[in-house]
Amino acid sequence: MKSKMFPYFPAVRNLFLNESNIYCNVSNFTCDRSTTNLRIMKHIVIIGNGIAGVTAARHIRKLSDHKITIISAETDYFFSRTALMYVYMGHMKFEHTQPYENYFWKKNRIDLKKAYVNQIDSSNKYVVCDTGERIDYDKLIIATGSKPNKFGWPGQDLKGVQGLYSFQDLQQLEKTAPNNLQCKHAVIVGGGLIGIELAEMLLTRKIPVTFLVRESSFWGSVLPSGESAMLNRHIKNHHIDLRLSMNLKEILSDENGNARAVIIEETGEELACDMVGLTAGVSPNISFIKDSEIELGRGVKVNRFLETNIPDIYAIGDCAEQHEPIGNRRPIEAVWYTGRMMGEAVAQTICGNKLEYKPGHWFNSAKFLDIEYQTYGWVFSNRDKKDYETHFHWKHADDTKCITVSYHKDTRVFLGINTFGIRMRHEVFDNWLTEKRDVDFVISNLALANFDPEFYRHFEKEIHIAFQARKPINA
Ligand SMILES: Cc1cc2nc3c(=O)[nH]c(=O)nc-3n(C[C@H](O)[C@H](O)[C@H](O)COP(=O)(O)OP(=O)(O)OC[C@H]3O[C@@H](n4cnc5c(N)ncnc54)[C@H](O)[C@@H]3O)c2cc1C
Repeated sequence: MKSKMFPYFPAVRNLFLNESNIYCNVSNFTCDRSTTNLRIMKHIVIIGNGIAGVTAARHIRKLSDHKITIISAETDYFFSRTALMYVYMGHMKFEHTQPYENYFWKKNRIDLKKAYVNQIDSSNKYVVCDTGERIDYDKLIIATGSKPNKFGWPGQDLKGVQGLYSFQDLQQLEKTAPNNLQCKHAVIVGGGLIGIELAEMLLTRKIPVTFLVRESSFWGSVLPSGESAMLNRHIKNHHIDLRLSMNLKEILSDENGNARAVIIEETGEELACDMVGLTAGVSPNISFIKDSEIELGRGVKVNRFLETNIPDIYAIGDCAEQHEPIGNRRPIEAVWYTGRMMGEAVAQTICGNKLEYKPGHWFNSAKFLDIEYQTYGWVFSNRDKKDYETHFHWKHADDTKCITVSYHKDTRVFLGINTFGIRMRHEVFDNWLTEKRDVDFVISNLALANFDPEFYRHFEKEIHIAFQARKPINA
C-alpha cells in the first residue's frame, strides 16, 4: 500500500498499514502447541467482521486449531472503516480498504458467513441468523460495533438523511450527494470526528455544507478551549457554515419523502438542503440481544477479561462496556486500536492463556481538514479538567499549529499532550508517561518526540521560550 493514498491522514494510514503488515505475515501463521490443548477442538463463533472480530479470529487461529466462524451482515470481507472517507474522495477504491486478500480466510480456515444474527440462545448455545439458519457454538464473541445515534428527530428517517458508518452509508452518500448539481446543499448535525470527516468529503465535491454543532465551540467537550477555538476558525476558513450552539429541531420532507430542509431549534430558521448527515456520536449496536440473558448497559457489560455475565460469551470492540472504567478511559471506547487490542486479549483467554485487557496509556489521533491531531495521556477539556491539572498552551501565529501540555500542579508530573499540526512519536510519549517524567523534562526534550519529516520547520525552541515565559501557575 503506497502512503500517497493517505496524503493527509497519517493516523488512518498507520492503522491501515498495520493491518497490511499482518497480511504480510499470513504465511507465518502457526499454532503454538505449547499454550493450547489442540485436542479439544471447539467451535468459536464471532458476530461481526470489524477490526475487533477479525483480530480475535486471527489470533485464535495463531494459537489453536479451533473451528472459527465469523458471521457478519455488512460486507463479505473485512475492510478498514477508518478509510471509508478516502473512497468517496477518490483517493482509493473500496477494494483497497480490504487489508487481506480474499483467499486469506480460507487459507487460515476462518469460515465467513454473510448474515445478520437476530437471536442468541445462551442456554442452548446457538445463534439464529436472519436466514433462519441456527449455528451452534462452544464460545461466542460479540463484536458488533456501533451505529450512528438518532435522537428521535422528526424526519430522521427520510430519504437523504443518513449517518456515516457503514459500507451501505457510503453507497447511499454516492446516490444522494454525487455532485453539487444533485446535492446543492448539505447539513451535518453533530460536531465530532465523523462530522468533520463528512464535511471534508462533501467539500471535495464542492457541495456547500452547514454544520450544526450543539456545543458553543467545536469538540469543546473534549478539547481545551484554545484548541477548540483554533478549529472553529479553521473550519470557517474552509468555507463551512459552522453554526455553534445550534440544534436540529426537525427535517422537512418534499412530496416524495426526500429531505428538503432542516429547521434549527434555537432560531427557527429553515435551511434548504438535499442531504442531512447525522453524526451526533455512535452507540453500541446491540439491539438484537436486548431479549437475551446477557447483561447490557449502553453496551454489552464485560469484566477485565472481556467476559460477559454468561459463561463462554465475550464482547469486544465498540460494543463492549467495561463494568468499571479503566483509569480515565471511558467504559465504552469506540476506537480502532482498542478493538484490535481487545481482539488479541480475548483470543488469548479463549485459547487457555487467561489475559486481562490492559490498553496502557491513552492515545489517539485524527484529522480536522488540514490539521493533524494527536493526543497522548490525558489533557482534559475546560469542562472536565481535574483540579490538579495545569495546562501549558502554545499556538503558532499561523493559527494551524498548537500544543497543550498537561501536568500536575503540585508534583509537575507530565500528564499528557495534545498536538495539532506537529507530528509526534507515540513511543516517546508512552515512555515519558510510564517514567512519570516532569513537565520541565518534557518541554526541554520535545525535539526527541518530533516526527515531522526532514526539512519541516521545527518549533521546539519557540515552545520552550514560551514555556519559560509563562506565568508560574495555570499559565
Ligand atoms: C467514518 C469513520 C471514521 C473513523 N475513523 C477512526 C479513526 O481515524 N481512528 C479510530 O481509532 N477510530 C475511527 N473510527 C472508529 C472505528 O472505525 C471503530 O472504533 C471500529 O471500526 C470498531 O470496530 P468493531 O470491530 O468494534 O466494530 P465494527 O467495525 O462496527 O464491525 C462490526 C460489524 O458487525 C456487524 N454486525 C452488527 N450487528 C450484527 C448482527 N446482529 N449480525 C451480524 N453482523 C452484525 C456490523 O454490520 C459490522 O460490520 C471511525 C469510524 C467511522 C465510522
